Amino acid sequence: MNVSPLHWLYRGTLNLLFPPQCAGCALSGTVLCSRCMQSIQPLTPPYCPRCLTLLATPEACCRPCTERISALRGLRAVGSYTGVLLASIHALKYQGVIELADPLGKLLAQTYQRHHLQADIVLPVPLHPERQRQRGFNQATLLARACARQLGIPWDERLLIRRRATSSQVGLTASERRANVAAAFSLPSSTRRIRERTILLIDDVSTTGATLEACARPLLDAGAQAVWGLVLAKRNFAHERSRNASRSLSFR
Ligand SMILES: [Zn+2]
Ligand SMILES: [Zn+2]
Repeated sequence: MNVSPLHWLYRGTLNLLFPPQCAGCALSGTVLCSRCMQSIQPLTPPYCPRCLTLLATPEACCRPCTERISALRGLRAVGSYTGVLLASIHALKYQGVIELADPLGKLLAQTYQRHHLQADIVLPVPLHPERQRQRGFNQATLLARACARQLGIPWDERLLIRRRATSSQVGLTASERRANVAAAFSLPSSTRRIRERTILLIDDVSTTGATLEACARPLLDAGAQAVWGLVLAKRNFAHERSRNASRSLSFR
């Protein structure tokens, strides 16, 4: 159970009292209207084809991606962390509008298809159990399930676990982020399901890719063939560091 029964009850009562509103434009009757969904734009190049870091000039890859071997085969995102996507992610995570997982999962599935990804199994980036208890759900699990159902690919929310809580990544440099989440994830049980398989890791937002990378490492160690990351929004790291105002919104 990835959403607590209490949360479902709460959402059900809320929907009865107040009809749902579009997270993008507040249109009544839907959590995300088709106009807002269609207004979401893919990332504007030039960006690193591997990690989606925005580049000043078109190059093959960003410097970090050419200098180190990444556990992730690549990262793909629906769009940037702005506008309708940002509003929808906040509504899902911080206001608990779990109904958004369906339209957002559809967007993830469309992005998967647009980039011709081929995965055997979909896994969400796990939250620490304590954090999940506070929130009542893991948004990445809801997104992974919705995306996997759209694509007809199996998914598993228990294969990967978060062993320890990590402090907020906000304000940390790329290497600090990697150190912060390194060894935070592990595989608790049999790794049979992932051996020789291509894994698709789902999360809501990625900034440096450090969290996805920390998830990918134990999967590769356990024999996975390749690990791809797919997120709703890619956040521009340089932009975020100059904007400390977003600090309170970046808790996860
Ligand atoms: Zn709308
Ligand atoms: Zn890169």
